[in-house]
Amino acid sequence: MYDLVVVGAGPAGSRLARRFADRGENVVVLERGEVGVPLACSGHVSGDVWNFLPDGARDELIGNEIRGARFHVGDSSYEFYRDETVSYAIDRVGMDRILADEARDAGATLQQNTPVVGVDESDDGVTVRTDGGKTYDAKLVAGCDGPRSTVRDEVGLPEPDELLQGVLGFADEGDANDDDLVDVYVDVPDFFGWRIPRGDCVEYGSASSGSPREELEDVAGVDVSSFDRVCAGQIPIGSPTRTATDRCFLVGDSAAQTKPFTGGGIVYGMTSADIAARHVNPDSPGTLGVYDRAWRDELGREMYLGSIIRKAYALPRPVQRAVMTAFEGEINVHMDRPTTLLNRSTARRVVRNVLGV
Ligand SMILES: Cc1cc2nc3c(=O)[nH]c(=O)nc-3n(C[C@H](O)[C@H](O)[C@H](O)COP(=O)(O)OP(=O)(O)OC[C@H]3O[C@@H](n4cnc5c(N)ncnc54)[C@H](O)[C@@H]3O)c2cc1C
Repeated sequence: MYDLVVVGAGPAGSRLARRFADRGENVVVLERGEVGVPLACSGHVSGDVWNFLPDGARDELIGNEIRGARFHVGDSSYEFYRDETVSYAIDRVGMDRILADEARDAGATLQQNTPVVGVDESDDGVTVRTDGGKTYDAKLVAGCDGPRSTVRDEVGLPEPDELLQGVLGFADEGDANDDDLVDVYVDVPDFFGWRIPRGDCVEYGSASSGSPREELEDVAGVDVSSFDRVCAGQIPIGSPTRTATDRCFLVGDSAAQTKPFTGGGIVYGMTSADIAARHVNPDSPGTLGVYDRAWRDELGREMYLGSIIRKAYALPRPVQRAVMTAFEGEINVHMDRPTTLLNRSTARRVVRNVLGV
């Protein structure tokens, strides 16, 4: 019997497997396809991501360093920036592979091309069934299987509040591939569109509850059919009220551990994996409830403030312009921690911008 079956080898699953294997637990990771593919993510992350990766990964993964963002509201644009790097466009497929290698090196077994189709909980443990008819018995199962989690459905845990559709594509724009500002198009209904200079190309993307591809073409003035590559995925927003049962817990997108104002979930998912590794003991399933509370304690405030920022996307255009004007300029905010918006230098800037002094 395994101590832990991890379903899904994305960032959350591989990080969780590595942390459990590090402390000597017997872990198997079941991945539906191959690690990292197909790509459905921009890989735009804060420097916090380096806390989860080995030395040397930076040089391998960084495509471009970003200093800020240019927000577009109708025909107007507003810049928010720092003098230093605030975020990175990284090779997301490469990152997933490194994380999976780390899990394997720590002693976890990785089974690729192994889709999980069923989970049966009992008083003594859990049985995980795969497409090929094989079963895995374990003390616990972790559903790290993304926004459309099979594990979540199988054990009857509630769904996230929303599932947005995301689309992205790549174009070669020559020297502009190396720009150091991302563009954000807030006119996409419900959410936003983006343009990320990645170093070797420029990525255009959009997410919404409607038709992100058409909306991106409208707001960014691009022809998606002319892009080199186009991919799509889903973004869960709004965590379910419960993320654990007696023998199962959810980590990452399956638990909608994402930033409500960007949909980014790489850092939050791995942060939650570390929280699970700190609290969950396979021999004491009651610790799953501790995990459910602990990750909300650590990320809940940021996610709540993030959901308030998200509401600003739906404000009438004149109000959006007034808010952008108040905040624009050099800004000292951490992209994963919206609470850092509440600082003195930002307050001083708002006062200066509003009063014009
Ligand atoms: C268009 C788009 C752009 C994004 N851009 C960013 C960004 O710039 N920055 C950021 O931080 N986040 C971004 N995200 C979100 C980010 O991709 C996710 O938050 C992150 O991948 C979540 O990691 P995870 O490990 O929870 O899930 P995933 O990365 O989705 O991994 C889940 C794994 O489970 C596997 N799986 C699924 N079902 C099964 C099954 N039944 N059996 C076995 N395996 C299964 C999948 O194959 C996959 O490998 C973006 C998302 C989208 C859609």
